[in-house]
Amino acid sequence: MNKPCRMCMVCRERKPKNELVRVVKNKSGEINIDESGKAEGRGAYICKEGDCYTKIIKTKALNKTFHENVSPLVYEKILDKLNK
Ligand SMILES: [Zn+2]
Repeated sequence: MNKPCRMCMVCRERKPKNELVRVVKNKSGEINIDESGKAEGRGAYICKEGDCYTKIIKTKALNKTFHENVSPLVYEKILDKLNK
């Protein structure tokens, strides 16, 4: 069993994809949760469980991942979805 692993952008641990949520930046530069896991664009991953998503704002993980100043509104939108 060789499941594909991806690295969480907050804790930097490698985990199977089903334990992570994909965040994707599309061609028009919008950053969103990728619910399908197949959206086009540059993707990054964050743990579903644990407190990684509560740290995403403090660590500004999206800014580092996407090399830009990500708006606090984008962080809120993502936190909102992760908190469901
Ligand atoms: Zn993590």
